[in-house]
Amino acid sequence: MTHETVSAHGRLHHRFWGEYSARVVLQFADAASAADALATLVRTGPGWGTAEGVEAAGKYLVFTGASDALEAFKAAAATWIEPVPCNSFGCRNARHRIDGLEHSVDYGAPFTITVPVVPAGQLGLEVAR
Ligand SMILES: [Zn+2]
Repeated sequence: MTHETVSAHGRLHHRFWGEYSARVVLQFADAASAADALATLVRTGPGWGTAEGVEAAGKYLVFTGASDALEAFKAAAATWIEPVPCNSFGCRNARHRIDGLEHSVDYGAPFTITVPVVPAGQLGLEVAR
């Protein structure tokens, strides 16, 4: 059975020291879902890869990139991303940006992402490693 989309919980971590970069971690239900999503995410631009060194690493994907790569990802994934409604600090169901600085200089708003799965027939030889 194939899925048309796979979903994950995500969080962006700002890294302001030195030259700015962002790290985005996505947690999928299982490694197969993460692999399906990776085949799509690598098409949005550079920076996506598998996680290493964490428990159950196969369930996670990690993006690391500077501002331009982050902006490219955000533009490509704009319709896939749904910020978790915020009710903290007096917010009433606010939808903060995934790289928003409303409540933290370290982390953006938690979000869910629903990634379309590339049909196997379209992957050809460019399957993600
Ligand atoms: Zn808020």
